[in-house]
Amino acid sequence: MNDVGVSASAKPLDVVIVGGGFGGMYATYKFREMGLSIQSFEAGGDLGGVWYWNRYPGARVDLPSIDYSFAFSPEIDQEWTWSEEFAAQPELLRYINFVADRLDLRKHFRFNTRIASAVWDEDRQIWTLTTTEGERVEARYCVMATGPLSVPKTPDIKGYDRFRGESYMAGKWPHEPVSYAGKRVGVIGTGSTGIQIVQEVGPQAGELFVFQRTPSFTMPMRNKTLSPEYVAEIKRNYPGLRAAARMSAVGGLRPQSTRAFFSVPPETRNALLEDAWKLGGLCMLGTFSDLLINPEANEHVAEFIRGKIGEVVKDPVVAEKLKPRGYPVFARRPCLDTSYYETYNLPTVHLMDCLDDPIQEITEKGVRLASGEVELDMLIFATGYDGLTGALLNFDVIGRDGQNLKDKWADGARSLLGLGMAGFPNFFTTVGPNGPSALANIIHINENDVDWIARAITYMDDNGLCAMEPTEEAETRWMDHVRELANRSLVSKAKTWYVGANIEGKPQGLTIYTGGFAKYVEACEAAAKDNFAAYRFAPSRGAQPVRKTA
Ligand code: NAP
Repeated sequence: MNDVGVSASAKPLDVVIVGGGFGGMYATYKFREMGLSIQSFEAGGDLGGVWYWNRYPGARVDLPSIDYSFAFSPEIDQEWTWSEEFAAQPELLRYINFVADRLDLRKHFRFNTRIASAVWDEDRQIWTLTTTEGERVEARYCVMATGPLSVPKTPDIKGYDRFRGESYMAGKWPHEPVSYAGKRVGVIGTGSTGIQIVQEVGPQAGELFVFQRTPSFTMPMRNKTLSPEYVAEIKRNYPGLRAAARMSAVGGLRPQSTRAFFSVPPETRNALLEDAWKLGGLCMLGTFSDLLINPEANEHVAEFIRGKIGEVVKDPVVAEKLKPRGYPVFARRPCLDTSYYETYNLPTVHLMDCLDDPIQEITEKGVRLASGEVELDMLIFATGYDGLTGALLNFDVIGRDGQNLKDKWADGARSLLGLGMAGFPNFFTTVGPNGPSALANIIHINENDVDWIARAITYMDDNGLCAMEPTEEAETRWMDHVRELANRSLVSKAKTWYVGANIEGKPQGLTIYTGGFAKYVEACEAAAKDNFAAYRFAPSRGAQPVRKTA
C-alpha cells in the first residue's frame, strides 16, 4: 500500500483537500500557489463535482454562466467564452476542463478515491486521513470541499432496486448515451432535477410517466445564445461585474428591489410580475423586497404562477395537480424551465399524482401505485440528495478529545460561518452548513471560503501558531444568528432538503445562513479581523511554518 506522507522519513503534508468540484479545484490552486505541500482527493474519475456526476438529460445551471464561473482569474474571464446565458452540463464540464488544464490542476488529485476517516492527533497536531483502500495521508490542515449536494439520497421506496428494466439515478448518470425512443419511461421526483429531465425526455420517450408527490413552482428560464457583441461587452466589464456580484445577496447579477409588495397598487404589482415572467430567470424573486418574509405577498406571487400554469396546461385536471399549494413559493428551490408545463400537453406524457395515489413499491416491471402497477422499460430516480451534511457525515471525522462529528451534529449541524467547528482544529469546510450554501452562487462562496482559510493559515504561520478552531461561544453566537434569521425567513417553512425533511431521521431545521452572500462575506471579514478573535489557537510545537511564499 502506498502511503502519502506517513513513512518515518516523510513529513506530513501541509494541506489535504477533499473534493474535485469548484471548491476543491480552487483550494488546490490557491494552496499550491502559496507554496504549500498538498494532496487532493476526488471520489469521481475526474474533476467537476456535481457537473461530473449529473449528466442526466437536460442538466443545466440555473444561474447565468457569466456569474456561475470562477471570479478569481481575470485571465480566465477573458479566455473563456460562454455560448448560452444558462450553460448546459456539457459546456460546464468543458469549462471545468479548460480551467483544470490552464492551471495544471489534475496532477495534484488522486481520482476514484474516497476518504473513509479523518482523525486528529492532538499531541502531534496532525490529521490522518485514510482512504477506503486503506491508504493513509497525514497533513496539518484538512480542507473539505465535499459540496452540499454530493450524496444522492437512497430512494426511500420499498423495492427501489428491484426493477429489471433500465434504471438510473439522476446524480449518478452513465457516461454513455441513453436512448428513450419508443420506451415507457418513468421519472420519480419533480424537484429541479426531475423538471429538467421531464421537459427533455418527454418529447423523446414513447411514453413518459411522471410520478409527482409535491409539485414545484417553476418559472421560465428564457435561455438564450449569447451574441459576440454581448460577450465582448461582458468581458470589457468583467472586473466591475465580479465586484458587484460580491456585494450582492446571491453572489450574482440578479434584479433586486427595495420595493415592498403592498407598497404599490395591485395593477402595478401585476404589471411588474408580468414583466418578470417575460424576462425569465430569477427576476420574479427580485421584483419585491419582502417575498421571503411576508407570507401574504408571497402567496400573491404563488397565485400568479398558478395562474400561468393554468394558462399553459390544456387539461384543467392536470393543471390543477401541477399547481403547488401549501408552502411558500421560493421556499423550495425555485426551478427554471424551458418547456416543463408544455410537456404535459403531449398525449404521451402522463402525470401520476402520488399524493392521491401513492407509490406502494417498485416492482420488477415498474411502479406499483395504490391504484395498480405502471409497467415501464426505464425508471429514473430524481429523488434528491442528503444535502448539506451528507458528505461530511458519510465517514468518520474524529476531532479533539475523540469527538466524532456525527455526535457533534446529532441534533443538527453546528459551525462558525460554515467554515469550521469547535472541537475540530485545522478542519475547514467550504460551502459548509450554516453558510449561505444553496441560497447563493456556490462558486463564489467557495472562493470566499478558500481565500479565508488561506488567510487563516497565513496568520498562524506568521504568529508561530499550530492549530485553530472556533471557540464554543463564537460558534453558539453564529448559530443563534443563523436560527434567528431562519425563523424570519419563509425558506424554513417548506419540507425540503434545505431543512433536512427529505431524509428520515435527519435533525430538522434550516442550517443555511439566509442573510445573503454580501453579509456573509462581511461576517467572514469580521471574523478574520482582530487577530481571529473568535478562534482559539494552539502554539506551534516545533512544526515549521507551512507557507513558503506569501
Ligand atoms: P429535490 O429538490 O430534493 O427533489 C426530489 C424530488 O423527489 C421531490 O419532488 C420529492 O418529492 C421526490 N421524492 C423523493 N423521495 C420520494 C419518494 N419516496 N416518493 C415520491 N417522490 C419522492 O432534489 P433535486 O430535484 O435533485 O434538486 C436538489 C437540488 O439540486 C435543488 O434544490 C438545486 O439546489 C440543485 N439543482 C440545481 C439545478 C440547476 O442548477 N438547474 C438542477 C438540479 C438540481 P417530495 O418533495 O414530496 O419529497
